Amino acid sequence: MNNRRHKIKGPVPQGPKKFKWNGIWLYILLLGGLFLPQLLGKQVTEITWQQFQKDILSRNAVARLEVVNNETVNVYLKPSFANDKQFKDVFKSTWGTNEGPHYAFSIGSSDSFDRQLNDAEKTVPANDRIPVTYIRKSNWLINVISWIIPFALLFLAWTYLMRRAGGGMTGGGTSIFNFGKSTATLVEKSKSEVTFDDVAGLEEAQIEVREIVDFLKNPDTFTKLGAKIPKGVILVGPPGTGKTLLAKAVAGEAQVPFFSISGSEFVEMFVGVGASRVRDLFRQAKEKAPCIIFIDEIDAIGRSRGKGAFLSGGNDERESTLNQLLTEMDGFGTNSGVIVLAASNRADMLDPALLRPGRFDRHIYLELPNMHEREAIFKVHMRPLVTDDSIDTRFLAAQTPGFSGADIANICNEAALFAARKKENKIGKQDFMDAIDRVVAGLEKKSKIITPEEKQRIAFHEAGHAVVSWLLKNVDPLVKVSIIPRGKSLGAAWYLPEEKQLRTESTFHEHLCATLGGRAAEQVVFGEVSSGALDDLEKVTNEAYMMVTYFGFNKKIGNTSYYDSTGQRDMSLQKPYSEETGRLIDEEVRKLINGAYEQAKEILVQHRSLLDQLAKALQTKEVIYKEDLEEILGKRETGRHKEPVPEKHPA
Ligand code: ATP
Repeated sequence: MNNRRHKIKGPVPQGPKKFKWNGIWLYILLLGGLFLPQLLGKQVTEITWQQFQKDILSRNAVARLEVVNNETVNVYLKPSFANDKQFKDVFKSTWGTNEGPHYAFSIGSSDSFDRQLNDAEKTVPANDRIPVTYIRKSNWLINVISWIIPFALLFLAWTYLMRRAGGGMTGGGTSIFNFGKSTATLVEKSKSEVTFDDVAGLEEAQIEVREIVDFLKNPDTFTKLGAKIPKGVILVGPPGTGKTLLAKAVAGEAQVPFFSISGSEFVEMFVGVGASRVRDLFRQAKEKAPCIIFIDEIDAIGRSRGKGAFLSGGNDERESTLNQLLTEMDGFGTNSGVIVLAASNRADMLDPALLRPGRFDRHIYLELPNMHEREAIFKVHMRPLVTDDSIDTRFLAAQTPGFSGADIANICNEAALFAARKKENKIGKQDFMDAIDRVVAGLEKKSKIITPEEKQRIAFHEAGHAVVSWLLKNVDPLVKVSIIPRGKSLGAAWYLPEEKQLRTESTFHEHLCATLGGRAAEQVVFGEVSSGALDDLEKVTNEAYMMVTYFGFNKKIGNTSYYDSTGQRDMSLQKPYSEETGRLIDEEVRKLINGAYEQAKEILVQHRSLLDQLAKALQTKEVIYKEDLEEILGKRETGRHKEPVPEKHPA
């Protein structure tokens, strides 16, 4: 996810060189020049045998005859006839005096011609007869052309194919002739505009990566003491936490070229392409050293080899690509000035060989930003926005727990869009609130047709969530309840999750109760449930299984966890526990959910009047905020934690 990706042109490998069409005119002119004399060559006057006999032979003007290829007879006149009135014209030519042939006529065969000539010269003494020569001539022009044309056609077809295959494509690897070439995008040093100023929060990570900038800028400071510069740094963290951004900032700060490629770009349909692309990438990087190679989503190639290959569709191709990457990382000298940065959402799935010292030695963990970090990220993304004075970044940060940097960037953009749609001059607080709601629950769908009965049921469902969660101490504080359809949901309750690292068993249990509060309210009020609780049931089931199988909260299952941090078991058909344990797990999960459901019902029966009041308020107002909730339900008794919202939610 990267909505500020700096598009920088300039693929590393160029496609096939474009054929210069201007050049072909030169060849055409040369050939034309060569053949011009032939083309403009001597023009021989064509006559018939009868004309020859009557007008030329009878006047005794013929010097000699030449039979060519048994087909044509060339007639050469005596030079003494050059000034003769009848022949004057044929002696003139473009290229000076015409040496002959001056006339030509066709014959059926040389035998018949001999016979005719003998008959015509019957009376002439043998010594005075016209000399006749027989020759064979091949037309070299036609020969040459018949040779050239097939080659020219082949050449044109090849050029056309090359242009089709490589034309318009930027990355070398996208052309059919460039499969093995790396498809990495090169960001030249002067063009990388991202700096550490654009990265908010992530202080610990920044300290670590700043060191890499120092390595790249002043390698001597380290090498003269005998230190080795690290080869690989892996950035691990949930999506949108700024891994790509951080890598770009390193390149921007160090002012070195930056090759960016995604792990999946190595993998192609054809065997051996991945490995060859890895080789090509490192070759190019070494040429540009000092530089950075950034491999995004490295898990596409770096997943553990061997295990689960059958089910994961794991193949030799991916493994050979990974092997090549390992080899290259071993290969380039520690001080060659190429540093590989890689990003992954799950480092636990990566091959241990990739993470060992000497390869990706450094692991930098990025986490979802805390409140202060979110505030800083809001500030970074608000820089280009035109906002009014009502905006308090601290308040916005408090409203967005669990949001990643990318989510916050998205909220800022959405807020600007909301303001633009309303034709406002400045972006206000309400635009940000609408943007947050939109990102959390989708756009309001006021046009959705809902019957009054449905509306009543939705109101009780949401009121059920609100009442149960309000009365249980350990559930996150509720800030807003709405029955306006948004995205796929018909109503929603907004909680403000606290940033806690640990959650106790009772917190989990109360959360189950609050999630089932909606369905329980439907049962208590209408005597039957509806299909509207699908999302709640899904959440509850997942959470209950997690409680039993991962966190060891169940007494019968005991302190056992079937959590698989390597992700290998996702692909496996076999469960890590016996069938009997499986049955026990299902049974305990069911018990847990039923218990929570009964507890939610009990709370609602006890506080039925609160439920009714809230549902009524929802039906009339459609959206109610914390103040309305406090008015109906009274001040909330909070658990161990303090509420993180410093201000009142806007009405
Ligand atoms: P993914 O794993 O999905 O590739 P990522 O961790 O690489 O995600 P980025 O592409 O770096 O995430 O972040 C997406 C966008 O989120 C950035 O372009 C930036 O606008 C914003 N962002 C994320 N973290 C921060 C941060 N710490 N400071 C400022 N902006 C941030």
